Amino acid sequence: MTSCALCQEIKQGKEKIYEDDMVYAVLHPKPASLGHIVVFPKKHYQIVEQIPDYEFGHLISIANKLSTAVFEGAGAQGTNIIIQNGLAAGQQIPHVSVHIIPRRENDNLAFQWDTKQLSEEEMSTVELQLKEETKNLGAFQKEPKAEPIKLDKKPEKIPELSDQENYLIKQLRRIP
Ligand SMILES: [Zn+2]
Repeated sequence: MTSCALCQEIKQGKEKIYEDDMVYAVLHPKPASLGHIVVFPKKHYQIVEQIPDYEFGHLISIANKLSTAVFEGAGAQGTNIIIQNGLAAGQQIPHVSVHIIPRRENDNLAFQWDTKQLSEEEMSTVELQLKEETKNLGAFQKEPKAEPIKLDKKPEKIPELSDQENYLIKQLRRIP
């Protein structure tokens, strides 16, 4: 685990652009363009399929905000937001990361690809297979609930429901 370059980056804690409890962002040491940021989860997930939905959602939200930052902070006119997921996709470090690559007109970065001419049969077969795989999408993993707050003092008597509500409200107000 400590041999992972991104986990090391977090440990060393230098030159970060952004950090919170779930994600960490740095300038890419070998940037594709000026202001190229890489943001990654603090936990060592190898591929995106391993990340819980709420953590992935947070990662993408932060990537979006960092993308906004490079418009203002690095004079970008556009951004490519890229995840290389798996060896076949060009992933070099086995720790999920999102690249935010600032783009400017005529910057000569090549993110185009040649389109493939597929047969109707190939298209309809893959469409059917994908529909089968995506039937149950949409059941998202929610963030685990926080532990309930324990009160040191028990109420002297068991209050009525409305009293109990008032009691809880009073307790909550005492918390600074
Ligand atoms: Zn790692």
